[in-house]
Amino acid sequence: MNVPAAVPPKQRKPDWIRVKAPVSEGYHATRRLMRELNLATVCEEAACPNIGECWTKKHATVMILGDTCTRACAFCNVKTGMPRAVDPLEPEHVATAAAELGLEHIVVTSVDRDDLPDGGASQFVKVIEALRRNTPNTTIEILTPDFRNKAESAVDAIVAAGPDVFNHNLETVPRLYPTIRPGARYYASLRLLESVKRKAPHIFTKSGLMVGLGEQRLEVHQVMDDMRSAGVDFLTMGQYLQPTPRHAKVEEFVTPSAFDAYAAIGRAKGFLLVAASPLTRSSYHAGDDFRKMQESRAAQLERANG
Ligand code: SF4
Repeated sequence: MNVPAAVPPKQRKPDWIRVKAPVSEGYHATRRLMRELNLATVCEEAACPNIGECWTKKHATVMILGDTCTRACAFCNVKTGMPRAVDPLEPEHVATAAAELGLEHIVVTSVDRDDLPDGGASQFVKVIEALRRNTPNTTIEILTPDFRNKAESAVDAIVAAGPDVFNHNLETVPRLYPTIRPGARYYASLRLLESVKRKAPHIFTKSGLMVGLGEQRLEVHQVMDDMRSAGVDFLTMGQYLQPTPRHAKVEEFVTPSAFDAYAAIGRAKGFLLVAASPLTRSSYHAGDDFRKMQESRAAQLERANG
């Protein structure tokens, strides 16, 4: 998951990434509902800087399979350890949350569950099924782990359940994987995205990158090319922010104009949609962006049909 958190006091943030404290009634209502339903959110666990804005609008990204991850990525604030047993009520609770919040579009993510035989894929399937039953008009975006070392049937089951968007973040350039994402493999993540697109071309695929970790511009361009080779439709890019002093340092605060330049290059490389700004996160404005992606695909098909 690429939802880095607020920067610690020692690293001074530039003005363009300052955010307001979450104080609205909408924020508190969203928080209460999540507690009542015993649901974790990546918004809280990763201390996302956009929580005030998103929760005021009742946009929350639900994190299934508990709040404890079996990996320990150097950028991520979600706690690491041995997770608890899977909650069988979780799929219905996610559907209840979507109904109560009146969501047109929901983003569901999870921690990595290397301890489970299918990496947690069957819980994603159950959540998708519960949402289709209870809120059939809600479009569903899933942001998954890499299912590394799990049988291909795990991912096949999720694809068969038919999410509208399948998101898996590459997070950073391959050179930085050993330090930033040591439990993952760049080409395994890329292959996951490629296989989803090959099996179900109608499902939108999406992937995200954090910048400011020491990557070079040309390395980012290469990752964009790799994503396009895997058929990825939607690229998100945001500034990495160090959650605590124990996490990887911010090497650079990328300027808004440099994000604009990345977005222009991404569009030229053929993504249906690119969202790139300092505060962009995988799930930031995901509902609006889903509709833009649909329009963009429709326009592309119209051009292809003359
Ligand atoms: S950007 Fe995503 S993770 Fe952050 S608060 Fe918004 S919905 Fe939650």
